[in-house]
Amino acid sequence: MELRVTADFEGGNGRVERILREEQADVVYFAAEHKKGGPQALWFFLRLEGVKGPHLQCVLTNPSQILGGGGSWKHNSPVVRFGSGTWSRIGQVTRRLNEHLVPEIVMEIEVPPGESVAEIAACYPYLRKDLEATFEDADPRSIWSKCGIGYSADGNSIIRVYNTLGDEERSKPGLFFIARQHAGETPGSWALDGILRYLVSDEGLALSKELCIWAVPVADPDGVACGAYGKDQFPWDINRAWDRVTRPEIHAIQTDLIRWSGRCRPHMIVDLHAPGYSEHGFYFWAPTVPHSVARLTHTVANLFRERVPEHLRGNEPAYRPWGATQTSVHQGSSCIAFGIQRLGIPTATLEISYQGPEPGVWYTPEDYRLLGRTLIETLHSTLPG
Ligand SMILES: [Zn+2]
Repeated sequence: MELRVTADFEGGNGRVERILREEQADVVYFAAEHKKGGPQALWFFLRLEGVKGPHLQCVLTNPSQILGGGGSWKHNSPVVRFGSGTWSRIGQVTRRLNEHLVPEIVMEIEVPPGESVAEIAACYPYLRKDLEATFEDADPRSIWSKCGIGYSADGNSIIRVYNTLGDEERSKPGLFFIARQHAGETPGSWALDGILRYLVSDEGLALSKELCIWAVPVADPDGVACGAYGKDQFPWDINRAWDRVTRPEIHAIQTDLIRWSGRCRPHMIVDLHAPGYSEHGFYFWAPTVPHSVARLTHTVANLFRERVPEHLRGNEPAYRPWGATQTSVHQGSSCIAFGIQRLGIPTATLEISYQGPEPGVWYTPEDYRLLGRTLIETLHSTLPG
């Protein structure tokens, strides 16, 4: 049977360089693609059809181009699944230098008997169908509604999900969540998935009734559809376009934030991300000024860290002050500046690792969901009396 390797599907990413069919293993050399430009790639997601097993070796040929660099792959674990089964971690990868001194990452995968289709990805993919499953199939109470708030540059709809439209009296406290400003940062989506699922559960229903929650689960639908990583992508990083609004996606989200702020008493805007590929644990980027608005983000970050179960917590500080570090090649404002300076609403970014809380321990989708649930419980606990 021929081995066919493709990335030509929703979220797919991977330039196939070479396929070797050896006695005991198929070997696939591939690179993570930049797709929409930017100095660093990160996301990859490949489908392999006709795998013969019992071993499969996948070799990533450009780890030096991935945010964090090729030297930092010691504790990274991409994910794999067979057929339409569930995703799991590949486990420890190995790093080697090729004969030209260029680093490569080798993933050794055992293929279960009878399986001939394998998919590998940088982290658990989160696609349109995952969101559909959550706010339709998994929401028998119809808590969540969805609507379009505009279109992306490529004509994809920008969706907002919400539990209530609030009211002109602004009677309920409000939360606004954003995910996938950087399209490959799927841990943010899994955390938001945990929030959406928790608020329709028996335990979370009371919280849902108290709050006016709006969310844009996919801020960069074009990048998510084509499998771009998204950080520093051309023509401009979406999360550096909040002052000079060069992107239709940001214009749409800003307009919606203003709409939301007129229908509730805004408590906080939380933007969900993943950090460099080899970073562990989680941490907030939080503003420092004006202190009167910024301090709530510090309280939330500290309480969130305390509330997260110890085995998921890791060793990062609860938050890093936003603005202290240059984190992008694009000079420009993130949603933190827009939220705090233009709207006067506490706003922070939460970075959640692609890997796990610490070296050698890896997050599962359920762990990411639990982080989301803990986040919404934390936010609720900080509502004014
Ligand atoms: Zn990001």
